[in-house]
Amino acid sequence: MSNFRFSALKETLNRPIPEIIYPSNKVSDYFGSMTFNQTVMREYLTEEAYEAVLLAIDRGERIERKVTDQVSSAMKAWAINKAVTHYTHWFHPLTGATAEKHDAFMNPIGEGRVIEEFQGNALIQQEPDASSFPSGGIRNTFEARGYTAWDPTSPAFILEHTLCIPTIFVSYTGESLDYKTPLLRSMSALDEIAVDVCRYFDRNVGKVYPTLGWEQEYFLVDSALYTARPDLVLTGKTVFGHSSAKDQQLSDHYFGTIHDRARAYMQDLEIESHKLGIPLKTRHNEVAPSQFECAPVYEEVNIAVDHNQLLMHLMDKVARRHNFKVLLHEKPYAGVNGSGKHNNWSMATDSGINLLSPGKTLKENFRFITVLVNILKAVHENEELIRASIASEGNDLRLGAHEAPPAIISVFIGEQITRTLDEIEKMPTRDALKNNGNIDAIINIPKIPEILLDNTDRNRTSPFAFTGNKFEFRAVGSTANTAKPMFVLNTIMANQLVKFKADVEKLIAGGMKKDDAIFSLIKKYIKESKPIRFEGNSYSQEWAEEAAKRGLSNHRSTPEALHAFVSDKTIKLFSDHKVMNEKELQARYGIKLEKYIKKIQIESRVMGDLAINHILPTAIEYQNRLIENAKGLKDVLDQKSFVKLSRNQLNSIKEISNHIAAIKEDVEKMVEARRIANRIENLQEQATSYKTTVMVYFESIRLHVDQLELLVDDEIWPLPKYRELLFIK
Ligand code: ADP
Ligand code: MG
Repeated sequence: MSNFRFSALKETLNRPIPEIIYPSNKVSDYFGSMTFNQTVMREYLTEEAYEAVLLAIDRGERIERKVTDQVSSAMKAWAINKAVTHYTHWFHPLTGATAEKHDAFMNPIGEGRVIEEFQGNALIQQEPDASSFPSGGIRNTFEARGYTAWDPTSPAFILEHTLCIPTIFVSYTGESLDYKTPLLRSMSALDEIAVDVCRYFDRNVGKVYPTLGWEQEYFLVDSALYTARPDLVLTGKTVFGHSSAKDQQLSDHYFGTIHDRARAYMQDLEIESHKLGIPLKTRHNEVAPSQFECAPVYEEVNIAVDHNQLLMHLMDKVARRHNFKVLLHEKPYAGVNGSGKHNNWSMATDSGINLLSPGKTLKENFRFITVLVNILKAVHENEELIRASIASEGNDLRLGAHEAPPAIISVFIGEQITRTLDEIEKMPTRDALKNNGNIDAIINIPKIPEILLDNTDRNRTSPFAFTGNKFEFRAVGSTANTAKPMFVLNTIMANQLVKFKADVEKLIAGGMKKDDAIFSLIKKYIKESKPIRFEGNSYSQEWAEEAAKRGLSNHRSTPEALHAFVSDKTIKLFSDHKVMNEKELQARYGIKLEKYIKKIQIESRVMGDLAINHILPTAIEYQNRLIENAKGLKDVLDQKSFVKLSRNQLNSIKEISNHIAAIKEDVEKMVEARRIANRIENLQEQATSYKTTVMVYFESIRLHVDQLELLVDDEIWPLPKYRELLFIK
C-alpha cells in the first residue's frame, strides 16, 4: 500500500520560510493604503460630496444620486491607479463566508476599443442571482432576485486587483439575507435609545455606537499533512487521531517563543491586514501546540465585523504562501484546547467616551453604573438568546469542555464592582432620607468616584466577563461571523434601555427627581439581575447545579439552543426594534438547523469512509502479517513452545479483530441512523435526530480507530498522526 502520510511528512522537512518584505519602513506609511478611506476621499471627492458621505457615515443620511456618481468615479480613479481591473459587491450571506461576484470596469465602446467605467448605480446596488444562497425559504428559487446595497459606513477596499464594496444583501421584498443588515439595524436601534439615556448625564451626546475588539484563535498545520487528512480537508477537523504522548500538558506553548515559520506567517498576515486598514496589534502562541491568536485594536462594531471576515479570508490566502493551512474550526483536535473568538464589546459616544469606563467624577460613575446595571439586566433576561447567538456544531464541542465557558451564560464583574453594587443595593433612596436633601450624599455612599479597576481581576472561566472597560464575550466560536452575537447584544441592550427610560419617565411623572428615579431603578435592577452574576469557577459541576437552581438555561447542543431564536419573546424583541421580523427569524432558524444537520452528515460520511476505506484495510493488512507470523512460528516451534511464545501475536490478532468488527458494526448502524434521520421532514426533529442517533456513534468509532492506531505498525498507518500534525517542523 502506498503511504501518502510518509510522502507528506517528507514534504514538510526543510520548508523554506518566505522572505518577509515590508512595503516600507513604517507601518504608518502603508496602513490603509488599500482602502478608500476618509483621507483618500478628501483627496478624490469634491468638498460637497465628501461632506455628504461623512453625513451618511455619521448620521446614516441618504446619499443623493449625483453624489454617488461622484463617489463611484472617484473610487474608479483611485482603484485604477492601483492596477485594479474589477469591482465587486462584497457581502456576508448566511453561508457564513463572504461572497463576491466580480465585474470588469472595462466596457467596449466600438472599433475594438474599451474604456473603464463604473457608474453610481453599479456602486449603490446590484442584483446578483441570489437563488443559490441560503434563504430559509424566503425566496423560492424561481423568484431569484435579491439585491446588494452599498454600506457607506464601511470603507471599500482592494483585494487581488479587485475593488470590493461592502454591501448588505436583502431579498427583493426587503428581508435581510445576510449578517450585516440586522447588525446595522441593531446599531441604529441602540443608538437611538442610548443617546436618550446618555443625555440624562450629558446633554451633548449626539451618537452612541457599539465597539468590538475581537481576538481570533486559530491553528496552523503544514499543508502537506493537511492534504493527507481527508477529514481536515472536508470537515476542518480531525475525526480520528490518538492523542500525542505530549501535547499541551507542559503548558510550554502558551505565550512561548513563536516558531519561525509561524512568525513569518504572522508578519505576512499583518502586512496584508494593515494595508487593508485592519489594525492588528497582538500576536501570540495559544495553549495548544500550533495554536495562535491575533487581535486588533477595537473599532466601531460594523467595521470590526467586516475586518474579522476579511481577516479570516486573508489568513487562508496568506497561509498558502507559507505552506500552511489555517484551521479556524472550534475543535480541530480532540484532547487539546479548541479555538474561540473572544468578543470585547462596549459602547462609545460621538465624543469618544467609553460608556463602560468608570469615570473620575460622580456624574461619570453614575452613568457608568447605570450602563453596567442595564447590561446585567439585559443579559439576565436574554441569556437563552445570547446562548443561541453562538450556537454551532463546532462550538458545541468546546463549550463546557473545561477549556471554554460552559453553555450557561453568566456574567462576571469582579470583586470591586461586586462590592460597589452590593453597597448601592443596601443604600437608602432619597425617600428614606427625606431630611437629607442632597442627592450627592446618596450616590456618593457607594464610593463610586474613582473606581480604580484592577485589571488582574480576571476570571477566565466566565462566558461574559467585565474586564475593566468592556465586556469580554468569550463563548463565541472561532469560525463565527461575529455580527450575530453582536446584533443580539446590541438589540437586547436597546430593548433594556427602552424599558429603563420608560421606567425613569414613569417615576419622574410620579414626582421623583431624575437622579432619584435613575438611582432607585439601579437598585431594583441590581436585585433583579442577581441570578446572572457569578464570580466563581464556571467550569465546575457545582455551578451547573447552582445555575439550574437559579433558572438559567444550559443548552448543551445547537438544536436545543437555537429554539430561543424563534421564541415569542425573541420575535417580539427583534420586531419591536425593527432588527428582524418573524419571517426573517424563522428563515435564519431554518438555515442554522440545516447547516447543523449538513455538517453532522458530512462528518458522519467522512468518518464512515475513512474507517472503511483507510483504517480497516490497514488494520487487516497488519493483522495478516501477524497471522503469517503466527503460522511461521507454528512451523518452526514445537506445540508447547508455540502456545507459550505466540500468545502476544494471537492476542493482537484477536484485539484487532474485535476493533475491526466493532468499527464495521458501528459504521453500519450509523449509516442506518442517517438514513432514518434523512427521511425526517421537520428540521428541528431532524437536527435532534442527527444529534441523538447519528452523532452517538462518533465517539465509539473513534475510540476503536484510535486504539488501532496504537496497535498497527507505524510504517503502514495511513493518516498523519496527532504528534505530526500538532508540531510545526
Ligand atoms: P486581553 O488581556 O483579554 O488580551 P486586551 O486589553 O489586550 O485584553 O484587549 C483585548 C481586546 O479588547 C483588544 O482587541 C482591544 O482592542 C479590545 N478592547 C479594548 N477596549 C475596548 C473597548 N472599549 N471596546 C471594545 N473592545 C475593546
Ligand atoms: Mg482577552
